[in-house]
Amino acid sequence: MLKAQLVWGVLLAAVLLLASLYLLFLFLPAPVPDLVAQYFSPAELERARRYQQTVCLLGLAAFLTKAGLLWWLWWSGKGVALARLLLKFSCQRYYLALALFFGAIWLLLKLVEFPFTFGSSFVVQHRWGFSTQGLLSWWLDYLKGSSLDLLFSGVGTLLLFWSTARWPTGWWAAAGIFLAAWMVVEAMLWPVVVAPLFNRFEPVAHGPVKEMVVRLAANAGLEVDEVLVMDASRRTTKANAYFAGLGGTKRIVLYDTLIRDYPPEQIEAVVAHEIAHWARGHIVKSLMWGMAGSLALFAALYTVLRLTAPGEALRGGPYGPHILVVIWLFFHLVSFIVLPVQNALSRQMEREADRVALELTGNVPAMVQLHVDLARRNLQEVAPAPFVEWLTYSHPAPWRRIEAALKAR
Ligand SMILES: [Zn+2]
Repeated sequence: MLKAQLVWGVLLAAVLLLASLYLLFLFLPAPVPDLVAQYFSPAELERARRYQQTVCLLGLAAFLTKAGLLWWLWWSGKGVALARLLLKFSCQRYYLALALFFGAIWLLLKLVEFPFTFGSSFVVQHRWGFSTQGLLSWWLDYLKGSSLDLLFSGVGTLLLFWSTARWPTGWWAAAGIFLAAWMVVEAMLWPVVVAPLFNRFEPVAHGPVKEMVVRLAANAGLEVDEVLVMDASRRTTKANAYFAGLGGTKRIVLYDTLIRDYPPEQIEAVVAHEIAHWARGHIVKSLMWGMAGSLALFAALYTVLRLTAPGEALRGGPYGPHILVVIWLFFHLVSFIVLPVQNALSRQMEREADRVALELTGNVPAMVQLHVDLARRNLQEVAPAPFVEWLTYSHPAPWRRIEAALKAR
């Protein structure tokens, strides 16, 4: 038990330390590199900073509230009490009780998270003039997203607990392998099954953009046949693009806001960046990391559970439903602690994509202007504190991307 307390103490201390430093550096004025003043006015920087602070604060508050709720459910014994009650209510039918317990905790988490979700994705987006979405349409998105989450995490939970009975000492490996396999299936199916539930996608219309794509792809030695335009403008004025899919579902997706609001040479820079992700196999690379991470995480979970609830591991049958709270708390805390690693890997791939994109287009001024315009219009913080970038940025800070492009000249 002492070892268990030590492990949880370390996890909690790491989260609290990271969260406090994050909060501190989010509000402490960071030194602005000289380069930034050439492209942005102090007023612009200040406005973006305030927007980012608001969104980040809401995100951190949601994370901490959920962690706090899970922690309380566990340490107060309320989680165990609820699980017992549900087992009694379902006449000791284990899987029914587990499903009810899962549903109850899932709903509780959704409820405590709701003010932050609504705040950051509706209220703030409207207040800052980004959202083009009405309340009804927002609710529809929210309900669709939540239903998918309920379905997938529900099935995942039932499978996980089933495997604790099936392989009492090896379930963590089974769960890790299953999650790794699921990641591949999800990467393949997400763009064709899930994304169309939220947006309409149409092949990029013939014309300059289409020609540009064909030319860039040929330069990169690729056959890029799927470039789609997404109706992002039904939700936001922000512009973006992404590369998704695996095998036959690979595609580059451009926001219609990008096509509408950005000049051709900047759209070219975006397309080249996405083609670079494609050419360098970045989806497969991140999947490999994700799969290795999934196995490592479940192995760590198994070790922590054996220390925390040795009775459950020794008992033989499936773990008691209340253990779900411990599992979620573990993943919740660990997902925050591994952010720097995850984001460092992502930033490295983004840097590579920017570099390859410049090789493809050879247009340095367009790349520089793209990062300037994206930061300006999407209200990105141009030069966040290095700690904030290290912890939470999946892409290098805009000023670093501008600097890298200028150096490539
Ligand atoms: Zn990228």
